Amino acid sequence: MTQSDSTDSPARTHGKMQRWINHLIQLQDLIFARDQQQASASGSRLSTLEASIQTMTTELPDDIRAHFNRMQKKMGLAIVPIANGVCSACGMQIPVSQVNAVHAANEIYSCPSCARYLFFQAGAPRRTPQRRVRGEPAQVGLARFSSPQLMILNLASTERDEALTEMSARLESEGFVDSAALLTEEAIKREAIASTAVEQGLAFPHVRGVEGGGLTMAVGLSRKGIRFGGKAPSRIVFFMVIPTAASAFYLRLLSGLSQSFREEDAREALFKAESEDDLWKALLKATRTTIT
Ligand SMILES: [Zn+2]
Repeated sequence: MTQSDSTDSPARTHGKMQRWINHLIQLQDLIFARDQQQASASGSRLSTLEASIQTMTTELPDDIRAHFNRMQKKMGLAIVPIANGVCSACGMQIPVSQVNAVHAANEIYSCPSCARYLFFQAGAPRRTPQRRVRGEPAQVGLARFSSPQLMILNLASTERDEALTEMSARLESEGFVDSAALLTEEAIKREAIASTAVEQGLAFPHVRGVEGGGLTMAVGLSRKGIRFGGKAPSRIVFFMVIPTAASAFYLRLLSGLSQSFREEDAREALFKAESEDDLWKALLKATRTTIT
C-alpha cells in the first residue's frame, strides 16, 4: 500500500514527476478512506490506514509534503484532476499549454487559482447531465442525489465485483453515467485501498472524480449479503458517484446514512419493500431528518 506503482496510474504518462503525482493521489485516497471510516463511525481499519498515511507522507520530498499538507488542512483536497480543461475543484479554466504540461508530468503544477496540485486523468467515467423538467417541484433530501430508477430491490450478485458491475450497469442504463465499465473498474480500484464496508452490514462503494454533474447514488439490497471485505456480509449497498467538488459533501451524506441505518429496525424497513418504488419511499422516510 505504500509504494507508488506507475502501472496503476490514472494517466499513463512517463514524466519524471509522475511517480510523485501517483503517490499524492494514493495518499489522498487513503486520507479519504480514513475520513470515511470516521464519518461512518467504523473504527475497525483506522489504525492500519493511519499507519499507511504516515508512511506515505514521510516518503514525500519536503517541498511537496509541505504544500500537500497545507492544502489538505485548508481545503480538504490537495490534488485534483483537470476535467475538460478546468480545475475540477475550483472551476478555473487552465490554459492549454499548462494542461499539456500537467499531462507530460515533468514538473508538478498547481492550479493558478486555488493552488491545489493538478493531475491529468485519462479515461475517467463521466456523469451525464440530467434534463430538468420545467415546473417540477424543487427536490429536497435524498431526492437530490438519487431516484426510484436507481433502487435495486434484489442484487443478483453475492460477490463484490459482480455487485459493483450490476450497480454500474444500472447507473449507465438509466442515463446517469457514460461508461459502466470504467465506473466498475474505478470502484474496484477504490476497494483495493480499503474496503468501504462498515458495521451493520452496510457498504459505501464509490468513485470520485466523476465530473459533469452532481453526486449520484444507487442503492442495492442483498438478502444473502455480499462479501465486501467487512467482518459480516454487506446487505445494503450505497454506491456513490462523486464529482471532485462534492468530496466534502459526500462525507456528510455518508455520515447521515450511517446514522439513519444504525438501528436494525431502520434497516429491516428497507427489506420489507416489495417494489423499487416502495424501496425508494422507505429510503426517503428513513433519511428525512438525517439528510436535508
Ligand atoms: Zn483550482
